[in-house]
Amino acid sequence: MTLDTSKRLEDLEAATLIVGAGRRSEWTGPVVNPPVWRASTHLYESTAALFAGPRTNEDGRFFYGRRGAPTQWALADALTALEPGAAGTVLYPSGVAAIAGVFLTVLKPGDVLLITDNAYDPTRAMGKGLLTDFGIETRFFDPLEIDDYEAAFCERTRAVLIEAPGSLSMEVCDVPALARIAREKGAVSVLDNTWASPLGFAGLPRGIDIVLMALTKHVGGHSDLMLGSASAGPELHARLRARAQQLGNIVSPDDAALALRGLRTLHLRLAREAESALEIAKWLSGRPEIAQVLCPMLPGAPGHDLWKRDFTGGCGLFSFVFKGGDAAARNRFIDALTLFGIGYSWGGFESLAIPIEPSGYRSRMSWPPAPSQDGDRHGVRLSVGLESATDLIADIEQALAAWRGQ
Ligand SMILES: *Cc1c(COP(=O)(O)O)cnc(C)c1O
Repeated sequence: MTLDTSKRLEDLEAATLIVGAGRRSEWTGPVVNPPVWRASTHLYESTAALFAGPRTNEDGRFFYGRRGAPTQWALADALTALEPGAAGTVLYPSGVAAIAGVFLTVLKPGDVLLITDNAYDPTRAMGKGLLTDFGIETRFFDPLEIDDYEAAFCERTRAVLIEAPGSLSMEVCDVPALARIAREKGAVSVLDNTWASPLGFAGLPRGIDIVLMALTKHVGGHSDLMLGSASAGPELHARLRARAQQLGNIVSPDDAALALRGLRTLHLRLAREAESALEIAKWLSGRPEIAQVLCPMLPGAPGHDLWKRDFTGGCGLFSFVFKGGDAAARNRFIDALTLFGIGYSWGGFESLAIPIEPSGYRSRMSWPPAPSQDGDRHGVRLSVGLESATDLIADIEQALAAWRGQ
């Protein structure tokens, strides 16, 4: 039997593709997974072969460790197969490194970058810090207000960073509309697709130019690695790859092998997490202690209609806002949870909870997303893992007693 590794998400169901993607026999040899190639030096047969080495700069040609080896190429290949419309994928040592790598590819001094106001905070910080230092101006816009978005463009706008749903507050914007406008205005559109992954949202066919992910989250899936990726069509992929090589971005083969292992069960984990998260979100929405449940998969929640129109899946990450109470009560709730760890990151097999206060990271959108008459603002973000939803709900129920001060 020979695996046909040229198959893509357009040709096969995700469950089937995810098993075979990236498993080229020249990289795996006689075993199932590509071995971990820990390598800086490639030994050549002769000086002639040494001279020939640098002349080809393709994946699949081992030349020197900084250009990767079969373990990294197999992961990049698998991610490309899963990203409809992608010609290739570049790997980065973290999600933030992927964002920096993309910005440093598509922007130059004097350019203007637009970022959705609800983007991941380090993305915002990069716009205000690193990019400012390099003479690039960043403007934030409310992605739910198309007028606000169009007004943010100027002649120097070269790129737009879109995140959907937004970090912490989980608003869903009209990604195809934002991407279309960016293209009309001659700007490169970049989607941070960490939440949905290509299994839940196919960015490139919806008009996005570059799709990036923090592989640290769902693809790794086991809270034991940091990696990022960016996938694009031929022209932008070639530019991303060249810039990543100039910047010296290389990922460890051990992490690439772990990410490949995580990838093989991504669809199962996402489906299970999403199912449990929806069950928990529904339960929370019926509780008197809760003012707003910010879960795009929940009917009636902010962003649900666009999620339903555009997405083919979800995941276990969502937030909620308490009705009244104070920060101390919210923190008591989190401290009382026994099945949710307290920690950053998300998308692992284990459930996590963190307190959230997004208004410090917003300049154009209000928190909480739905209008609140009573000043409700103390939020929690849950990353629902693979535990039983029944047990997780029971844990949340007992922690709500701590919130009430009982
Ligand atoms: C975590 C995260 C990142 C950054 O990924 P790291 O691997 O932690 O650097 C980027 N975007 C989103 C939406 C994230 O949640």
